[in-house]
Amino acid sequence: MIHVQNLTKYYHDLCAVDQINLDIQKGEIMGLLGPNGAGKTTTLRMLTGFLRPTSGNIRVKDYTIDKDALEIKKLLGYLPESAPLYHDMLAYDYLEYVANIRELDREQKRSRIRHLANLCGLNEVMHQPIGELSKGFKQRVGLAQAMMSDPEILVMDEPTSGLDPNQIVEIRDIIRQIGKEKTIIISTHILSEAEATCDRIVIISQGKIVADGSTETLKQSSRGEYLVGISLQNARFDSVKKELHSIDGIVEIALVNTEQAGEENILHVKLTCQASKDLRGAIYGKIKETEWILLELRQETKTLETIFRDLTKEN
Ligand code: ATP
Repeated sequence: MIHVQNLTKYYHDLCAVDQINLDIQKGEIMGLLGPNGAGKTTTLRMLTGFLRPTSGNIRVKDYTIDKDALEIKKLLGYLPESAPLYHDMLAYDYLEYVANIRELDREQKRSRIRHLANLCGLNEVMHQPIGELSKGFKQRVGLAQAMMSDPEILVMDEPTSGLDPNQIVEIRDIIRQIGKEKTIIISTHILSEAEATCDRIVIISQGKIVADGSTETLKQSSRGEYLVGISLQNARFDSVKKELHSIDGIVEIALVNTEQAGEENILHVKLTCQASKDLRGAIYGKIKETEWILLELRQETKTLETIFRDLTKEN
């Protein structure tokens, strides 16, 4: 549905988005994830036609952004990081105003506002000034605004930024509800957000895509590595390091913590291994040759946090 090719944006000398390629399918909820300054907002602003790319192409359905920007805008609803709200207006009046801009006729306007008030849980605040609403409700009004023309694609820049945990859950529920019918692109720097809401996560760092896939795929394929956790008694970390380093395929040995169990010291160690081989047998074999007592050996997948940190480390 959305096809992005070599999308690049320079602000003077600064390359904020660097040759991004993306294909977004109809019905997908895609999370654009990255640390501050990674280029998320710039990418979304280009996708929504608010910012001209320095180079590259964006095609939405059969339209291209350089020739048919207006047609593309009609297919899109956009909720920027700070929702464009008029604080003196009542929620209802504001939504009616947006409906007028979108050129809905009287009947469409009424039914659309009613539908969005239900969908976004706005019924109780429709006759209050927007300035008096909580941040969570303001965000819901912003969402309703973005959905007014019943767009096929909804683009949201950090939709839960600044909300409290309850409001975050409420907004996520609404997004998931909307996602049953629409294609959604959300930017966020919060991993749990992307994990909870999105089918697919694209991680960007310094303007480049560094990972793209479902949460599960990302966890499994992260740089072709997996983790093995071991717990040892009667061992010292420096000798564990020395012995296990001799196993081909172990790329990192880290001490997680030590635990005192009576007289004994227990080491909890994390081994980063290359995924092409299962090294658990070799690790067990090596431990068997020593005086150490193996209390536990388990394979772990990397958490999304670890993957995100690894991939965006330079930032
Ligand atoms: P955040 O999560 O902090 O909003 P982001 O991932 O959305 O960050 P962008 O806002 O796209 O990142 O910024 C990418 C880079 O481009 C940053 O280094 C930023 O300072 C720079 N930048 C953004 N807008 C402009 C601008 N109008 N002029 C110059 N530089 C800009």
